Amino acid sequence: MEKPISPNYDVVICGAGPAGLVAGLKLRELFPANFTIALLDKRSPWREPAQCAEAVHNKGLHRLVQVNPDWIRSPIDGVIFVSPEGTRIKYSQPQSGLLINRTLMHKDLAQRCSNSNIDCCFSANVKSISILADGVRTLSCLFKEEGERQIKARYIIDASGAGASLTCESNLAKGDFDVEPAIFALVKGLKFETNFIQMFFGQKIAPGGYAWLFPRDSEIANLGIVCGREYLKTKSPRKYFNEWLKKEFPEAEVISVHGGPIACGQSFEPIAKDHLFKAGDSADMVNPISRGGILEAMKAGKLAAECIYKIEDSDSKTDQQKIYDYYFKHWMKIQGGVHDRLARAKPAFGKIPDVVLNKAARKIAAIPTEKRTLFRIFWETLVSSPGLLFKMRSLMH
Ligand SMILES: Cc1cc2nc3c(=O)[nH]c(=O)nc-3n(C[C@H](O)[C@H](O)[C@H](O)COP(=O)(O)OP(=O)(O)OC[C@H]3O[C@@H](n4cnc5c(N)ncnc54)[C@H](O)[C@@H]3O)c2cc1C
Repeated sequence: MEKPISPNYDVVICGAGPAGLVAGLKLRELFPANFTIALLDKRSPWREPAQCAEAVHNKGLHRLVQVNPDWIRSPIDGVIFVSPEGTRIKYSQPQSGLLINRTLMHKDLAQRCSNSNIDCCFSANVKSISILADGVRTLSCLFKEEGERQIKARYIIDASGAGASLTCESNLAKGDFDVEPAIFALVKGLKFETNFIQMFFGQKIAPGGYAWLFPRDSEIANLGIVCGREYLKTKSPRKYFNEWLKKEFPEAEVISVHGGPIACGQSFEPIAKDHLFKAGDSADMVNPISRGGILEAMKAGKLAAECIYKIEDSDSKTDQQKIYDYYFKHWMKIQGGVHDRLARAKPAFGKIPDVVLNKAARKIAAIPTEKRTLFRIFWETLVSSPGLLFKMRSLMH
């Protein structure tokens, strides 16, 4: 599927994660075959395991890409919320989510890119990007086989992930907004329902975040933890993780341990200028509470491609600036606005005392399962502490 990379392209996409792959496919849908596109990554995007818990919204994924059933490990039929003292609240919503095999999805989407005449190279480390006249940019790229060389591009999509800071010199969003280190292990030896994800809350478990059990198949689970950054000054995420694992799942047999950064917030720095678009984690586009960013990255990749199409169709520099503004504004409308409100509520959310969560969980446990709604679960938690409602007021408008 990989091809030799030419010295010139109309668009070069840096990063073949969800943002870059969907951007490539959308570009090819919009432009004819003679519009040249390259998709570069420093590593094969289907290396195992993906640094991810691999949960997505079912309808959301289907809206963004043509889903191959092989990508689906299991449907998600609901969530089990676990309170600090261990009360388990089962919330059912059949088929609402999917646990996917991201590496298979990446491979399939990369194959589709290659089939639609996009030059793919997955051993190309983009070292720097500089700007020439009229928005044309040069990428300095280190290829595994041939060493360093330059590529020119009329447009660049930086989809290089969290904190990769490939294009930080341009005063754009850097993918470093509220970066939290997440850690997870693939484990066996546990019994769990394959169609329910489990989320564990508590100040001693994962302050400012949550711990999770997401099934991979009937034998293997992905157990992980993400904590708010401010809680990691005195204790490492690894320590939180080990303590939780030992207490909650002493029988777990750890197969391997992994980790990765999550840029979870909504920055207000520009995300596009001078023929350069940032998409996905590289533009701080992750949900600050769930820490989900796969569909967000896909949405942004698609939107970046549409904006390049608009620029190609425009006449003047003024129109171009309007399109860069549109990229940010439209992102805020479809997703970023919600992220911003969640980000403002996040500090209060992270500080909910265990006694409040325990009290709310006991109350919700008394509600019959079929009458539990996400809103009711959330509401019961909020009203369990009088000050919380005020602190989370950003969620109300
Ligand atoms: C532990 C963990 C669990 C998560 N769980 C979930 C989940 O369950 N659901 C969910 O929706 N989200 C989850 N996320 C977040 C999700 O993984 C990211 O939001 C998503 O991958 C962002 O996609 P992206 O395309 O922007 O970036 P990435 O997927 O990070 O892709 C970026 C690509 O760019 C490449 N790259 C970087 N620098 C260069 C360079 N200089 N040159 C060439 N290539 C480069 C990288 O190799 C990579 O392939 C999780 C994240 C972590 C860390």
